[in-house]
Amino acid sequence: MTTVTRFAPSPTGLLHVGNIRTALHNWLLARRAGGRFLLRIDDTDAERSREDYVTAIRADLAWLGLEPDGEERQSLRFALYEREFARLVAAGRVYRCYETAQELELKRKVRLGRGLPPVYDRAALDLTEADHAAKADAGEAPHWRFRLDHDEPIVWDDGIRGPQRFDPAQLSDPVVRRADGSWLYMLPSVIDDIAMGITQVLRGEDHVSNTAVQAQMFTALGATPPAFAHEALLVGSEGKLSKRLGSLGIAELREAGIEPEALVALLARLGTSQPVEPIADRAALAATFDLAHFGRAPARFDEAELHRLNAQIVHQLPYARVAHLLPDGMGVAAWEAIRPNLAHIGEAGDWWQVVTGPVPTPELADEDQAFVAGAATTLAGLDWNADIWKALTGALKEATGRKGKALFLPLRLALTGREHGPDMAALLPLIGREEALRRLG
Ligand code: GLU
Repeated sequence: MTTVTRFAPSPTGLLHVGNIRTALHNWLLARRAGGRFLLRIDDTDAERSREDYVTAIRADLAWLGLEPDGEERQSLRFALYEREFARLVAAGRVYRCYETAQELELKRKVRLGRGLPPVYDRAALDLTEADHAAKADAGEAPHWRFRLDHDEPIVWDDGIRGPQRFDPAQLSDPVVRRADGSWLYMLPSVIDDIAMGITQVLRGEDHVSNTAVQAQMFTALGATPPAFAHEALLVGSEGKLSKRLGSLGIAELREAGIEPEALVALLARLGTSQPVEPIADRAALAATFDLAHFGRAPARFDEAELHRLNAQIVHQLPYARVAHLLPDGMGVAAWEAIRPNLAHIGEAGDWWQVVTGPVPTPELADEDQAFVAGAATTLAGLDWNADIWKALTGALKEATGRKGKALFLPLRLALTGREHGPDMAALLPLIGREEALRRLG
């Protein structure tokens, strides 16, 4: 059976690192198995869903390189939900209720006071057809609950949490449809998972109790539930569910110079027993992805770690991947010379400026001044080639007896205007003979 996974965001906001992580893991799971990864837009809530968020979600997935193999929108599937709902009505698995939020709250308090689980008491199951007719006459429309089967425990073998067991009597029959006919998340999700042939539902552990009731919905609709796995939530480096994490999205990370490969490499391994490594190749990450590596402790997201990883990733990126982000004229040799010094690709422009000039004239001590002037003469007499830095410093070492910092630093300062930077052996050929002589002279 082909593995089919899905990422099912509600377009009521932008993606944040937490749901990006869920999307990535579903993508990796599908890739690893040679299966399919679907995007399902959960836009049943017409009021809160926005088209610009749908567009942003697609753009974010594309930027991350997690392009789905298919996309579905719940708002286009109401006819299917209606049909499946009718089957549940006919089978007596959904029933009409009329309690207001206040009434439910009161019932809850009374049950708690009696030491009973605060679940819905199913009072509406006792209503007769005459009662329903009277409600209809009074202009009261029902909302609908799914009737859980209390006969057997709900069990599944969770791909991350291991064997799970719920007593259905301890759960409320969930409301699946509001009095105005609109759908709550629970049932359409199951109907879609069946219709789309989802074989594996991987989501956050905040959905564990949803899974318990949804498992019964699959069965009630005549389907075998998919495999379920619930991952521990992402927390900030301080160990808490931070507000920052809940709002940290792609736009901000991009702005900060984070590359998609870095975010992907971090989120792929965070919360697993595998080390976080600067692996820029998604296929390599997919090949080593396994739910068995996931732990149950919350995964800690540390922005400083992301920035470190980003630098390591940037140091590996090939020219073809970054060419369109580089200043005009900056070629493959320049990229390879400069990239080890970058924390972000955006800094490449500063170093390219060091190559093309002009660079600031450094303040040198008199003796260094004389040394640099001598270097100009020496350089003028050398054959210009790819090893020119080695030839120049070799000749100067011999002529002046200088070595180490005393030899290299005045040259670097005069040639680049800076104390630190990319390897001079790679930089000098890029600067070129004429410009180098000008800077030394
Ligand atoms: N739209 C739901 C959410 O964002 C989907 C949950 C699921 O994966 O089933 O929480």
